[in-house]
Amino acid sequence: MKLKLLLFPLLLACALLIVPRAFSQTFVPDLENPEAAVRVVPNPLDIGAPARVAIADPEVLVPPMGLFDNRPVFFFLTRNGWTGLFGADVMLTEGTYPLKINYEKNGEVFESVLDIVLAAKDYGVRVINVPESQVKLSAEDQARAAREKVLVDKALATVSPERLWSGEFLEPVNAQINSSFGRRTRMNGILNPRPHAGADYRAPEGAPVRAPASGRVILTGDHFFAGNSVYIDHGQGLISMYFHLSEILVSDGQMVNKGDEPIALVGKTGRVTGAHLHYGIYLNGARIDPSAFRKLTTTLED
Ligand SMILES: [Zn+2]
Repeated sequence: MKLKLLLFPLLLACALLIVPRAFSQTFVPDLENPEAAVRVVPNPLDIGAPARVAIADPEVLVPPMGLFDNRPVFFFLTRNGWTGLFGADVMLTEGTYPLKINYEKNGEVFESVLDIVLAAKDYGVRVINVPESQVKLSAEDQARAAREKVLVDKALATVSPERLWSGEFLEPVNAQINSSFGRRTRMNGILNPRPHAGADYRAPEGAPVRAPASGRVILTGDHFFAGNSVYIDHGQGLISMYFHLSEILVSDGQMVNKGDEPIALVGKTGRVTGAHLHYGIYLNGARIDPSAFRKLTTTLED
């Protein structure tokens, strides 16, 4: 932990040494602990996992602001004080990364820098072999995928200031995960460097998909790889996505409530071999494990 502004406590200490004893007895600032306590859970953190950082100090009155892996960390109030969420993107490598937190306490601005240790995690590799003709995209398909990537990147860059969700995240569909987050694919002998950025649920075509948390629909469409897709903004850079749908039941801009009416039906649209739901979560652009995120939300003390 680093104290950015040493000047104020030093001046205060000097003042206390020279003021009359009677005055110092009525004015006793806590010089031992001018900074608020900042706590991160968990640390070490798996690559691809989310974490929470908490500042439980009643003297910190305005929301702190953080930065991890060049991504902002937004804070909201829970019963345990200020809480911020951040994620270790699935493409990061093991090592120590700084988490910087700026906050104001008693009129002073502090910066805490915490070492976050990222631990390697083996998410496994699946081997598949398909005809080469299915791997190569036509020029037309490549152009289409590129156009759709622009729309998706714009949606993923959404950062609405308000947190639109609370409490525990729900499962988006009533089914088991059959292809987990982080897994890499070796297709026709070539390892795809991009790991699976979501979890696949083995759900039958037509099964209802519900919003795991409240938010606003920011993008819907029929995309080359993802098929019929829905993107939900939950606020403060938290975005969830649902792919390969047979039907989309919401429209852009619509507010959705946690566990409410279905937002879509499971399908097999886009480049897939069978019906399933692909469910992904991005936290300020960091691709994180949706199952690990759901577990984290059960510990938030909202
Ligand atoms: Zn998937």
